[in-house]
Amino acid sequence: MIKAIVSGAAGRMGGRIIHMLEGAEGIILAGALERYDHPAVGKDVGEVVGLPPKGITVSGLVEEVLPKGDVLIEFTHPEVSFSHFMQAAAAGKAVVIGTTGFTPAHLTEIRENAPRTRVVLAPNMSVGVNLMFKVVADVARVLGEGYDVEIVEAHHRMKKDAPSGTAIKLAQVMAEALGRDLDKVGVYARKGIIGERTQDEIGIQTVRAGDIVGEHTVIFCGIGERIEVIHRAHSRDNFARGAVRAAKWIVDQPHGLYDMQDVLGLK
Ligand code: NAD
Repeated sequence: MIKAIVSGAAGRMGGRIIHMLEGAEGIILAGALERYDHPAVGKDVGEVVGLPPKGITVSGLVEEVLPKGDVLIEFTHPEVSFSHFMQAAAAGKAVVIGTTGFTPAHLTEIRENAPRTRVVLAPNMSVGVNLMFKVVADVARVLGEGYDVEIVEAHHRMKKDAPSGTAIKLAQVMAEALGRDLDKVGVYARKGIIGERTQDEIGIQTVRAGDIVGEHTVIFCGIGERIEVIHRAHSRDNFARGAVRAAKWIVDQPHGLYDMQDVLGLK
């Protein structure tokens, strides 16, 4: 039986992951972690997430919970997940990182330290979105030049980073498929007299409103027609299910860095 530790246990994603672990086969919750001064620390995790008592107390210390599990599931904040990843890597524990908003420097360090352990890093753990990464790359490749590529993402008003990690990844896979450098062609906002759209740019626009769980639209627009590929998440459970699937998969892999496409066999 695989033992999982959920970091950010009282958060929106942490709570759903703990619910998903209830029904999962071959994996159980072995530890729960929260910010040291969070009111959930010291409480039974079942009580915190709306389940019957589980006999597991929420801890505020990563070094206390790490030895209890095989895999650490991180859905918190970039600095927190980075620091927990480094500690897990030093302890040789597997890690699933769903947190988004890492700086390029964080991502470089994660890449460099991943060989010390096994880690899945994925800004979106839903099966549908990971299939979308593949589909939009194929569409971009077939359409080639002559079709303008735009991404619109929408999320709830509490989301802290923008654009979403998923929108950035969508832009990256399409830039790669089209042989473009996203650092040069990514356009993240438009205002004023901006002149005509350049052929190569990939626009990424952000909407923040209410309780939208997550929507991503990729538009390929030519003269006289357009294709739109849309993914709408109806609840967080698809991400949580993906995180549990990744946690079960990663513990048996050779050391290194993986993404959700690896977990789902989409490569
Ligand atoms: P949230 O704010 O509801 O939850 C984050 C939790 O982390 C909070 O409970 C907070 O107290 C806790 N936390 C803060 N510091 C901590 C520490 N030092 N140790 C342990 N816990 C700590 O946020 P959320 O909506 O659950 O999202 C969390 C992250 O997951 C965000 O980066 C979000 O973008 C990302 N996310 C990823 C996916 C995916 O599929 N990969 C899906 C949804 C959200």
